[in-house]
Amino acid sequence: MITLEDVSKRYGGLRADEAPALDSVNLHVDPRELVVIVGSSGSGKSTLLKMITREELPDKGRIMVGGIDYDTLSRKHIPHLRRRIGVVFQDFKLLPDRTVCENVAFALEIAGHTNAETRNIVPRVLELVGLADKINKLPAQLSGGEKQRVAIARSVARQPRILIADEPTGNLDNKNTWEIVDLVKKINDLGTTVLFTTHNLEIVHRLNARTVRIEDGKVVADVPRGKVVR
Ligand code: ADP
Ligand code: MG
Repeated sequence: MITLEDVSKRYGGLRADEAPALDSVNLHVDPRELVVIVGSSGSGKSTLLKMITREELPDKGRIMVGGIDYDTLSRKHIPHLRRRIGVVFQDFKLLPDRTVCENVAFALEIAGHTNAETRNIVPRVLELVGLADKINKLPAQLSGGEKQRVAIARSVARQPRILIADEPTGNLDNKNTWEIVDLVKKINDLGTTVLFTTHNLEIVHRLNARTVRIEDGKVVADVPRGKVVR
């Protein structure tokens, strides 16, 4: 589903003698896998995810996602690629002046769904994330955990093959964190490949999934599901 071969990335501003953000990273993720990416702040987690979403380009290495080799990917196919990848962030990125329902519907409209499809999908996906009773609320009327559930609903509504969650619990208290962790697990159980970054080891233990550790842009450990991560 996802393959990175010998991928390195140095941001333009860095001097050549500084450590790159990613340094010869190799990673293979199978369809339906859940992979937790751990590492301290600045270790390269977000950069790794941006390689997959094509938000940033690698300096070297090969990236393949869902059978598409990024070296042969033309600019006009990037929107198509992005539709297959759902992304959620620490800061939710909801539209503040739109209701829960409208936030999800808007994403579907942009992706080219008809009004009839949107009317059909939105209630189902809000049901999935447990927000059926908040459909007409504005983001400001929701808790952090609820906002993140809207963001997740919005990103999975298009039924992406891959969900990328970049520190989705970074702004949440404990209770909301576990709700989001359990929801992400459920989405993975329904068949979506998931990459989840965090620096919280408690989350790693709760997810009980394959865990890849990054330090200074290098993959330093790849711990299979069921093994204890320290
Ligand atoms: P993490 O997500 O693990 O905190 P990042 O991937 O954001 O790490 O960052 C890895 C390294 O790259 C850090 O040294 C960071 O300062 C640097 N970096 C990240 N984004 C940029 C950018 N847009 N421009 C320059 N340097 C960046
Ligand atoms: Mg980050």
